[in-house]
Amino acid sequence: MLAKITKWAVLIIATTAIVLASFSTTILASASNPTPSWGSWKDTTITYQTNTSSSYYKSVWKNAVNRWNKVGVVQLKAAKSGEKADITLTSSDTLSTKSGQLAGYTNYSYLKKGDDNNQIVSAKSTLNRSLLNKYNYTKSQRTNVATHEIGHALGLSHSADESSVMYASDRYASIDHQDKVGLQDAYQN
Ligand SMILES: [Zn+2]
Repeated sequence: MLAKITKWAVLIIATTAIVLASFSTTILASASNPTPSWGSWKDTTITYQTNTSSSYYKSVWKNAVNRWNKVGVVQLKAAKSGEKADITLTSSDTLSTKSGQLAGYTNYSYLKKGDDNNQIVSAKSTLNRSLLNKYNYTKSQRTNVATHEIGHALGLSHSADESSVMYASDRYASIDHQDKVGLQDAYQN
């Protein structure tokens, strides 16, 4: 049987992740290009739900949410009880990944509406507790990983710049100027 596909858009489900950074990186001082993006939500008000029983991880996610809200481009709001959240934030102790080296990852689905114009319809970001513990990530480094994953959930792609929170292998960087500009660019249209 053929799957029915709508005329105007194709729903795509994908995953992206942050890999383990177990060594210190050199932070380059640079005036960089904006962080690239792969899509955006239809609205700049986006709901989230923290789906973990750990108060520690609830607070890690909350800190990361606050950082993105501070940028002033999108507003992440806690979903009301019974409401289906746009973004689910969680953590896992039993995360099994191909490489086993992912500190966190984000699953998302989006409507493909043309080049560079993907509309995100759902996202779920997960922190890999076992790896974060094994490699002694501090709370602030875990918050950086959480911030990176929410960046994906908001539509940002990886940056080649080590001072960007969207650098693919990093625990040290938080939101940088280039990330703010990248988010602005993604939500401008
Ligand atoms: Zn990533």
